[in-house]
Amino acid sequence: MSTKRSESLFQEAQKYIPGGVNSPVRAFQSIGSVPRFIRSADGARMTDEDGQEYIDYVCSWGPMILGHNHPAIRESVVEAASRGLSYGAATEMEVRMAKLICEMVPSIEMVRMVNSGTEAVMSAIRAARGFTGRDKIVKFNGCYHGHSDGLLVKAGSGVMTAGVPDSSGVPDGCTRDTLTADYNNLESVKELFERWDGQIAAVIVEPVGANMGVVLPEEGFLSGLRALCDENGSLLIFDEVITGFRLKADGAQGYFGVRPDLTTFGKIIGAGMPVGAYGGRRDVMSVVSPVGAVYQAGTLSGNPVAMAAGFTQLTLLKDHPEWYQELNARAARLFGGIGRLLKEYEIPAVLNTVGSLGCVFFTPDAVIDYASAKRSDTKAFSDYANHMYDHGIYVAPSQFEAMFVSMAHGDAEIQETLDVVEEYLKEK
Ligand SMILES: *Cc1c(COP(=O)(O)O)cnc(C)c1O
Repeated sequence: MSTKRSESLFQEAQKYIPGGVNSPVRAFQSIGSVPRFIRSADGARMTDEDGQEYIDYVCSWGPMILGHNHPAIRESVVEAASRGLSYGAATEMEVRMAKLICEMVPSIEMVRMVNSGTEAVMSAIRAARGFTGRDKIVKFNGCYHGHSDGLLVKAGSGVMTAGVPDSSGVPDGCTRDTLTADYNNLESVKELFERWDGQIAAVIVEPVGANMGVVLPEEGFLSGLRALCDENGSLLIFDEVITGFRLKADGAQGYFGVRPDLTTFGKIIGAGMPVGAYGGRRDVMSVVSPVGAVYQAGTLSGNPVAMAAGFTQLTLLKDHPEWYQELNARAARLFGGIGRLLKEYEIPAVLNTVGSLGCVFFTPDAVIDYASAKRSDTKAFSDYANHMYDHGIYVAPSQFEAMFVSMAHGDAEIQETLDVVEEYLKEK
């Protein structure tokens, strides 16, 4: 497959954009390959600037759950755009959007729209701190909550110490109140609550870890967090930027039956437009300005074109609950097929999946947290990923990202994908 035009665009991009990309994973650095510059996308497929077509399992990192270029979503965007792109004033669509989210997700009594998942999380944490009057938060190693200063902490220090920033440019002071625990390890959270008694505002968690590959919550983990937060007067925040509207219409909280106090959304909620949201208990959300003293604002928040896209996608999902069974059945065909092939060719790899999210880890051992995910053979992943790109399958260019299946992935796409996977494993 030719990558000539992508290569030359990447060369030029690096002169004007740091690393040639506007978000690091897009540089394909971890698999040592050329980032494909995409020209267009439709349904389950994307076409790059060299005219190569790919079956897409990144789906813009989740938003395109109904496939690319969905006609109803596109039309709603065109219609909204024809009435002006932004007013910086209240609109009817924002009311309809907020009401729809509250109807779809029972734990959401009030919601505020923002422009990204990062902003949603940053704001939810500010609200939690304002509501509880406490400063400390607990996050889990390997969970990603956007790139705001206080959350760029994953590991390093043990569970008893305060966080150390992962990124240069983040002062230690910004992460002093970020405590880290291990995913699927309630004991590590309990220890933090004992050590920092009465000082923890909130525990934030991805109800399915989807930024260290895919890591499922073990039985009792999420309900255990709920109980620990209740015992300690802390809030439980589910970061459902990936799982929201994906596992079910009411997200991972509906799927696992655990009710958080606050939830953050992104990705699917904007259908491909830059949208995020945070919401939850009415008493907590009532601390947000202009009702309460927690300041949070946004020039383009609730943007009419973005709202039109998100509203149309969420309405379609709400009106077709049966689509989730269909989507998950398609994903099960794909992941089930990959699982069988890994076994047949005796590849030392494990497959973690839930609903339409999945990840092949190139390690023989169970992956249940950050430490076990990191044991994966990233060189083996990189060989596999490059084979996939070379044969028209667009997977995430990193071992530590999920595969996303959409409603546009039909039997033909899934079979074609399994054939490419088999061709690769056969040679191993
Ligand atoms: C993508 C993601 C974010 C950040 O969202 P952006 O829109 O990229 O700022 C936060 N949390 C989770 C769980 C995510 O997957």
